[in-house]
Amino acid sequence: VSACLLGERVRWDGGDKRDAFVVDVLGRRVRFVPVCPEVEIGMGVPRPPVRLVRGAGAPRMVDAASGKDWTEVMTLHVERRVKALARAGLDGFVLKSGSPSCGHADVRVHGARRPDSGLFAAALAKYLPDLPVEDEQRLRDPRVRATFLARLVAHQQQRGGDRARRRRT
Ligand code: SF4
Repeated sequence: VSACLLGERVRWDGGDKRDAFVVDVLGRRVRFVPVCPEVEIGMGVPRPPVRLVRGAGAPRMVDAASGKDWTEVMTLHVERRVKALARAGLDGFVLKSGSPSCGHADVRVHGARRPDSGLFAAALAKYLPDLPVEDEQRLRDPRVRATFLARLVAHQQQRGGDRARRRRT
């Protein structure tokens, strides 16, 4: 889960985005692995906000005020992080909507007509394409919640089955 949704004060402005459904409902059923890619690469709290800017191919992550480009550092980090999360055994991920790191296909890209995913969300989709992923905004819809929970359970059962088969061979 994006760490700010758990109430961790890791956002650029020193605040959080605690989400009651994620913490109080989902939190009773799952074990969370909190991830804040921006803090993990040493951007600090508080920090200047970054945004996505149209680039050749994929969007770039740029400090809105200074123009500092974080794309390479963040891309390297999220690839390693997602691969480590895969080895740890994830069954799903809840992302923070609209974030240039965590946003799931809804992030404004300056200079482009269409929104895109943040760099961490894009790495999740690239390296774990079958992982159930939602954001806290979409999870306000009861049908999206129900589908997401069912997919989490199915993913866990599939993973358990795969583990058992590996033990037998
Ligand atoms: S949206 Fe992602 S990068 Fe931004 S504060 Fe939350 S966890 Fe950190």
